[in-house]
Amino acid sequence: MPQFNTAIIGGGPAGVFAAIFASKNPQNFITIYEKNDILKTLLPTGGGRCNLAHAEFGIRELAANFPRGEKFLYSVFSKFSTSDTLEFFQNIGIKTYTQEDMRIFPKSNSASQVRDALAEVIKSAPNIKIVRQKAKNIQIDNGKFLVFTENGSQKYDALVIATGGKGLGHKFAQKLGHTVTPLKPALTGLKIKEKIFTELAGVSLKNVSASVPSENIKKITGDLLFTHNGISGPLAFKISSFCAYADYGENAPLAVKLNIVGENFEDFDKYLAEKLKNEARKDISNVVCEFAPKRFCDLLLRTANIDGSQKSGQISKCGRQKLAKMLTGLEFHAISPLKGGEIVTAGGISLKEINPATMESRIVKNLYFCGEILDIDGLCGGFNLQNCWSTGFVAGNSLFS
Ligand SMILES: Cc1cc2nc3c(=O)[nH]c(=O)nc-3n(C[C@H](O)[C@H](O)[C@H](O)COP(=O)(O)OP(=O)(O)OC[C@H]3O[C@@H](n4cnc5c(N)ncnc54)[C@H](O)[C@@H]3O)c2cc1C
Repeated sequence: MPQFNTAIIGGGPAGVFAAIFASKNPQNFITIYEKNDILKTLLPTGGGRCNLAHAEFGIRELAANFPRGEKFLYSVFSKFSTSDTLEFFQNIGIKTYTQEDMRIFPKSNSASQVRDALAEVIKSAPNIKIVRQKAKNIQIDNGKFLVFTENGSQKYDALVIATGGKGLGHKFAQKLGHTVTPLKPALTGLKIKEKIFTELAGVSLKNVSASVPSENIKKITGDLLFTHNGISGPLAFKISSFCAYADYGENAPLAVKLNIVGENFEDFDKYLAEKLKNEARKDISNVVCEFAPKRFCDLLLRTANIDGSQKSGQISKCGRQKLAKMLTGLEFHAISPLKGGEIVTAGGISLKEINPATMESRIVKNLYFCGEILDIDGLCGGFNLQNCWSTGFVAGNSLFS
């Protein structure tokens, strides 16, 4: 029986999935090169709880959560999607539950349980070997792949590069003729130019929406958290993702408009006028606080030069309109992604050069990619791990099958 030797560089979620599915063919012998502990990158996911999928079961609907890679993923998700992920984890003893926001976690709320279960599958496969070393270089020699570590080199029939958003994998790919689209941080908080917002550190706004006119982003929604130097939370992550390639900075900040009340200015102003009339004897601060947390409203009132103890009935039309404007379109300016906050890399191996039916390179035969190294990144909510499971499955299943 012929034997096929495959090297997988990177023992993160994508590389491990590729190994597990490749190992189902007993002719495949798989060596995973991992410079750290296997699946170490899984441990901090979901704040240690591992948001391993999202309860979105339609292929197109699932793919719509990827600012980059959407169309490419149609084919990938048709082979392995959310229900396959859940079935796989169920079969290896990981029970899951779905949160209200549709994010799926292990019932144990423990990323290390997920890591251990996957590591056990790898350990029990007789045809998977882990080499705990950094792959320093690769070369092609007569159609075979040479992987170099500090101990020398080994020859393989196939190579899977699954080194994630950082690391040498992009360089290896470029060396083999692949294009790497510019790498940018995504799913980060954002540093804000307006210093006044720093006093809101710790304040969170529930289910608000934002638009970014210069990027033609009309409405994205989510919770927002003010931090000591900017904004964070699901809505900030979405903005950073959709604007990963926007050209902005200290001198050309990115204008973001926040809508706290979810209505347009005209409708809301009319509603507010009526409300102020009906509640004329209430302090204006008490009325405004119905729309947002008190610290946030205090800042709005101060910015609008309105004394919070004024009675609602005394507010001028101009004052009311200022408030309505801020509650429906509060403008602030992002100047950079927040350093250290990035949780995925946008950009990577150009998808034009990969066959989505197999994850094989269209440039080099028997070369495969999976996971975050690709020019694929999803929103917050389990989508990035789903990308790893799905592309890892397709790559692993395609190896000498
Ligand atoms: C804090 C945090 C929380 C997150 N939470 C979630 C979440 O809850 N849900 C979700 O869907 N996504 C989440 N993500 C994103 C998700 O973790 C990544 O998209 C995913 O880990 C990417 O998997 P990967 O296998 O492609 O790459 P990685 O996880 O980056 O794994 C690549 C592996 O390759 C190894 N490697 C690199 N170069 C070499 C080399 N030259 N030789 C040997 N080994 C090498 C690295 O050590 C690493 O182990 C989170 C990310 C972060 C940072």
